[in-house]
Amino acid sequence: MRDDPGLHQGGSGVIEFFPPDVFEADHETLLEIVRAIGTGPEQRFILGEATAALERELAADLGAADVIACSSGTSALTLILHAMRVGPGDEVVVPAYGCAPLAATVVNLGATPVFADVDPWTMVVDPSEVEACVTERTKVLLPAHIFSVMADMPRLRKIAQRSGVRLVEDSAVAQGAVLDGRPAGLWGEAGLYSFVQVKSFGTAGEGGVVVTDDPDLARDIRMLRNHGQDGRHRFLHHVIGYNSRFDEIQARFLLHRLPGFPERLERRARIADHYAQRFAGLAEHGVIAPPPGRNGRCYYVYTLLTEQRDALRDHLTRHGIASHVYYPRPLPTQAAFAAWAPPGRRWPGAERASRCTLSIPVHPQLTDAQVEHIADTVHAFAVGADGSR
Ligand SMILES: *Cc1c(COP(=O)(O)O)cnc(C)c1O
Repeated sequence: MRDDPGLHQGGSGVIEFFPPDVFEADHETLLEIVRAIGTGPEQRFILGEATAALERELAADLGAADVIACSSGTSALTLILHAMRVGPGDEVVVPAYGCAPLAATVVNLGATPVFADVDPWTMVVDPSEVEACVTERTKVLLPAHIFSVMADMPRLRKIAQRSGVRLVEDSAVAQGAVLDGRPAGLWGEAGLYSFVQVKSFGTAGEGGVVVTDDPDLARDIRMLRNHGQDGRHRFLHHVIGYNSRFDEIQARFLLHRLPGFPERLERRARIADHYAQRFAGLAEHGVIAPPPGRNGRCYYVYTLLTEQRDALRDHLTRHGIASHVYYPRPLPTQAAFAAWAPPGRRWPGAERASRCTLSIPVHPQLTDAQVEHIADTVHAFAVGADGSR
């Protein structure tokens, strides 16, 4: 544990929401990788040895049948849904609260997103709401893990089985998380991770992977990511695909960062444990912490709920702490998705989440002193003890 107040506060003295120095210790390595690949004799920049090695290592760590690297988390989701032949006339049940790709990937394939409400505390999709959304047109259930909480995958699996529909797990934010002994990503027929910089296993650019235990799905997704080719014969196109290839520089950099990932995740979890302890009594003061513990938790983002959200944000800002409002509106009330929102339908859980969430820093670069300062500042706001409210 580090204890060096101020070290990571940057020039402005503010505790940043995302670590400004995320790759600082790796700068030299990153430059070496760029040089090695940039000047290497093969001049191989995509889908080479490093990408294959990354796929193998991730699959071995997970105990998954296959991992397919692609250009982003969004692309991973598209490839999975496409490989499942999701298209016009099909419905995909998605959370009413979360990030845009959940619904956008469905719409872009010509299918219909059906928005299921989320649990007002955990903010993951409510399985009963999902079940109520299933019709004879439903093809896929697409739950997502959000912030620090994994969706209720055991119940969602049962609903998918009972309804005879497919289950895709948007585990973009939950790499390294485990629920009841099973890793995030392996609960559905396919899952995914995103490597965009801000995610827990982010890189210095873009990338993502599909993870699956289904060899047929894996084979189709491999073809789809590179224009429907099979990897052996160039310019023979078995199906219409995409350009969703993976970058060799990113693959090498992620391989370099992989051994340190468990330690960084553990640091996130310890910070969250500490917050959970400090915030346990704050619910009666109107500040609600997320569910504590380690089972089914990912600590990508640590998110509080309070009706005083804007006041808490201002209070944190005054004390030099950056915070973040994720998703200020439910997906179906966004202009982009309004056409897929049945008139008159409401999503109270999603509306409450949109109104009340505030995410505070939980990144592994935080020092113990910074964590304490954040905890003290939230605590003081809730109990009104510092007189500045
Ligand atoms: C980040 C994210 C994605 C998209 O990943 P990108 O790599 O940014 O395309 C998809 N789903 C969820 C839940 C995410 O948080």
